[in-house]
Amino acid sequence: MNQYLEELNNQQEIKHLEIEELRKYAEINKVPIIKRDSLVLIESILKGRKVKRILEIGTAIGYFSICMATHFKDISIDTIERNEEMITIAKSNIKKFNLNDRINLIEGDAVELNDELFKNNKYDMIFIDAAKAQYQKFFEKYTKYLNDDGIIFTDNIIFHNLVEEDSNKLSKNLKSLVKKIDNYNHYLNTLTDFETYFIESGDGLAITYKKHD
Ligand code: SAH
Ligand code: MG
Repeated sequence: MNQYLEELNNQQEIKHLEIEELRKYAEINKVPIIKRDSLVLIESILKGRKVKRILEIGTAIGYFSICMATHFKDISIDTIERNEEMITIAKSNIKKFNLNDRINLIEGDAVELNDELFKNNKYDMIFIDAAKAQYQKFFEKYTKYLNDDGIIFTDNIIFHNLVEEDSNKLSKNLKSLVKKIDNYNHYLNTLTDFETYFIESGDGLAITYKKHD
């Protein structure tokens, strides 16, 4: 993010020094948390909407959830994580911020979780930010729990700008991953009941709305 803009946005966040500590921890330990400009964009979009319930797929250390719960005082979040180490760190962070009553950490693989867990849930916003190769699966499984006027954000849709690169330059694994992200982006565009905007923010952000007719 542009340094000047980052500092301007940051001045507000300095109020939350502990949140800055989380970002630093993520940077040092190479935990891929959301880029600051995408976070600011999401916050600014949610500001004008009646958002009460969020579902996040991919908690990591809890950074995004904690930001949302701190910024919006009346929302609650369900967030899914499968990695044991991340779960331990996220739990401790959520506790440290006193957000146990508003952030519900669901342990398990988001692709495999039992639908019974969600059947009575309706979310106003879904944040897709776990394994990039599984984006379409997450979308298909969880958008049925989205309110009609809900919104879906998908992070990392340009994946370090590799999605637009000549894929022959990439290793086999990376090539396959990048192909999957590219497929997902085009998949979003094929949906007739959803409308997606692809934004060059952070590592690329897709903003998807349910269509109304
Ligand atoms: N949303 C976080 C960052 C998430 S990083 C933030 O911005 O603060 C992605 C996380 O998704 C990793 O911790 C990884 O363990 C988790 N993950 C990947 N695939 C998953 C899956 N299928 N189910 C649950 N968690 C998954
Ligand atoms: Mg991400």
